[in-house]
Amino acid sequence: MRILVTGGAGFLGSHLCERLLSEGHDVLCVDNFFTGRKRNIAHLMHNPYFEVMRHDVTFPLYVEVDQIYNLACPASPVHYQHDPVQTTKTSVHGAINMLGLAKRLGARIFQASTSEVYGDPEVHPQPESYWGKVNPIGIRSCYDEGKRCAETLFFDYFRQHNLSIKVARIFNTYGPRMHPNDGRVVSNFVVQALRGEDITIYGEGQQTRSFCYSDDLIEGFVRLMNSPEELTGPVNLGNPNEFTIRELAETVIELTGSSSSLIFRPLPEDDPKQRQPDISLAKTELGWQPSVELKEGLVKTISYFDELLKTSDID
Ligand code: NAD
Ligand code: UDP
Ligand code: UDP
Repeated sequence: MRILVTGGAGFLGSHLCERLLSEGHDVLCVDNFFTGRKRNIAHLMHNPYFEVMRHDVTFPLYVEVDQIYNLACPASPVHYQHDPVQTTKTSVHGAINMLGLAKRLGARIFQASTSEVYGDPEVHPQPESYWGKVNPIGIRSCYDEGKRCAETLFFDYFRQHNLSIKVARIFNTYGPRMHPNDGRVVSNFVVQALRGEDITIYGEGQQTRSFCYSDDLIEGFVRLMNSPEELTGPVNLGNPNEFTIRELAETVIELTGSSSSLIFRPLPEDDPKQRQPDISLAKTELGWQPSVELKEGLVKTISYFDELLKTSDID
C-alpha cells in the first residue's frame, strides 16, 4: 500500500515509517520539521519506497495514498506551548485537511489522539468511556482541546461522510529518537543523568504517569489501523504500569549509575496528578498489550542518548 505518515520525522512517526517500510509498503512522510528531525529518518532515505515532503498540514495536501496516519503535532508541553495558536491549528486545520484528503481518496485514516483528552482525570484508571476533565482556557488547552476537537472531526466525518476512521488515545510513550531538548520527563531525566546534571522534578514528584516503550506502541498503531472496519475507537494505547515521577528519577539514576542529585522545581499549571490507561479494549479487540518493562525500555533509551551526546550534532 501507499501510506502517508504526517509527523513522520518525529519521534513516533519515524518509528512508524520504519515499521511500514519493513512490511513492504510505500511510505510518504510529510513533516514541517518543527520538532521532527532529518536525523530520525536519515537511515530510511536510501530506500526507494520512502519519500519525504516538507509541508505544514494546516495547508491542504493533494497526494494519492491508500492509508493515512495523522501524527503531525508537537507533543511536548515546551513545544506545544511555544506557539499555542499554531498548535490548535495543527490539530484542527490539520485534521480537516487530512480528513478531506481521506474523503476524496476513500482512504482509511488514523488519528494519534492522546490521554490528554482526559485532562486531570477524576476516574482512575481511565477507560475510553470517560469524558475527561479538561481546562478549556489554560496553558495546556491548545494541545488538549485541539486534540479533542480533532476527535470530534474524525467522528463527524465518520457519521456524515462514512469515512473509515481509527482513533488511538496514546499515553506517555518514550524511547530512542526523542529529542534531547524535547522537555518531556524521560528525555529530560536521561539527558540530565548522563551529563551529571541535577534531575529536575516538578512539584514533589508524587504525580504519576504510565510509560510505554515506543516499539510496543507502534505495534498497537498497526494493529488498530488494520482492525475490522467497525472498530473506530477511540482505543487507549499505553502501558498500565504506573510510576511516580520520583520513582522514575530514581530508576534513571540507578540505571545510568549517575551521581546526579534530585532538585525540585515548581509544578507547571494544570499538570495532571495521575494517569494510567485502562487497556481492556485494546486487549480484547486487538489482542494487544505492551511487553517491554520500564527498566528494559529505559536501558535502550539511555544507550541511544549516550551515543547521541557523544556527537556534537544534538540540536
Ligand atoms: P514529535 O514532536 O517528536 O513529533 C511530531 C511531529 O509532527 C514532528 O516531526 C513535527 O515536526 C511534526 N509537525 C508538527 N506540526 C506540524 C505541522 N503543522 N505540519 C506538519 N508536521 C508537523 O512527537 P511524538 O511524540 O512523535 O508525537 C507524535 C504524535 O503522537 C503527536 O500527534 C502527539 O500528539 C501524539 N502523542 C504522543 C505521545 C507521546 O507520549 N509520545 C502521547 C500522546 C500523543
Ligand atoms: N483537502 C485536502 N486534500 C484533498 C481534499 C481536501 O487537503 O485531497 C482539504 C481541503 O482544503 C478542504 C478540507 O480538506 O478544505 C476539507 O475537505 P472537505 O472535502 O471535507 O470539505 P470542503 O472541501 O467542502 O471544505
Ligand atoms: N516532569 C518533571 N521534570 C521534567 C519534565 C517533566 O518532573 O524535567 C513532570 C511533569 O511535570 C509531569 C510529568 O513529569 O508531571 C510528565 O511530563 P511530560 O511533559 O513528559 O508529559 P505530560 O505532562 O504531557 O504527561
